Amino acid sequence: DVDEEKLLHGRVLSVHGLQSKVLGDDGVLYACAVRQVLKSLSTSQRNVIVAGDRVWFRAESRDGVSLKSEADGMIERVEPRTGMISRTSRGRQHVLVANIDAMLIIASAEQPGIKPTLIDRMILTAHQCQIEPIVVINKIDLVDLADLQPLIGVYSSMGYRVLPTSAETGQNIEYLRALLQNRQTALAGQSGVGKSSLLNAVQPGLGLAIGAVSTDNNKGRHTTTASQLIPLQSGGAVFDTPGIRQFQLWDISASEVAGLMPDLRPYVSGCRYPDCLHLAEDDCAVKNAVADARIDARRYDAYCHLLEEELM
Ligand code: GDP
Ligand code: ZN
Repeated sequence: DVDEEKLLHGRVLSVHGLQSKVLGDDGVLYACAVRQVLKSLSTSQRNVIVAGDRVWFRAESRDGVSLKSEADGMIERVEPRTGMISRTSRGRQHVLVANIDAMLIIASAEQPGIKPTLIDRMILTAHQCQIEPIVVINKIDLVDLADLQPLIGVYSSMGYRVLPTSAETGQNIEYLRALLQNRQTALAGQSGVGKSSLLNAVQPGLGLAIGAVSTDNNKGRHTTTASQLIPLQSGGAVFDTPGIRQFQLWDISASEVAGLMPDLRPYVSGCRYPDCLHLAEDDCAVKNAVADARIDARRYDAYCHLLEEELM
């Protein structure tokens, strides 16, 4: 009984309880409720509507009762999701954001310094979600770029895009802007690396709050917990999700790690031991590949570090 003719199309910017903020393709912001029938359809996925969803909705006539600046609407249909970032808890998939094309993994050269294991964890999560990982190393104004070359070399030799930036001097901001164009990108990276500063540099006038680098864990610094889609003038959009920022996302078991590392993966299937963790066993295909340098020793080290963390 849904009158398809009258449905509008848009993107969900954020979800607050039962209300979703939807940016219509007409450029208008709508505060949308969700049709009851949609809720009963959702069984395996906990969230009916998540930030990033592409939806079809009906604009409701404003009766003058609502004083909100936004128009009201009712979501009738959700398009199938791709590139979801999700977490599984108690057997159910909890989707944080949907329709993500790339994950921008942001580290900083100094203050705080680079933690390769953290970058590796985020890259693996991007692979797990089937999203392209892009590594950004910010604050290069604070270091000698030559010192970063070995690290950049390791990641780019695996085919990852690595972009050194400075929000301070504007270095490579133009390139970053081009990377974000016409796609939906999730931001990941610990607090203080310069995520807000980079976005402000990409889109002057955005005005995201810049925090000081703090030495503690920054617990409680971010007061919002909901995912938020920030539309860019270039046509793309970025997701700023506190859960992704602080990277409480790790949902990978020790036995899955090697299979998610593209340079190790070919040897995982060649290993003769089922359930091998490629650490101790003699004649393990992965260890053999490391021994004769078919796998970069630094990458195998990275693997061992990831596993140590996972097994602890
Ligand atoms: P976020 O927590 O990742 O969003 O980081 P912020 O954008 O809030 O930045 C944290 C701190 O790092 C602020 O004091 C910024 O001024 C500083 N900062 C950000 N980018 C750069 C940069 O490229 N170079 C330098 N020197 N400082 C930066
Ligand atoms: Zn093995």
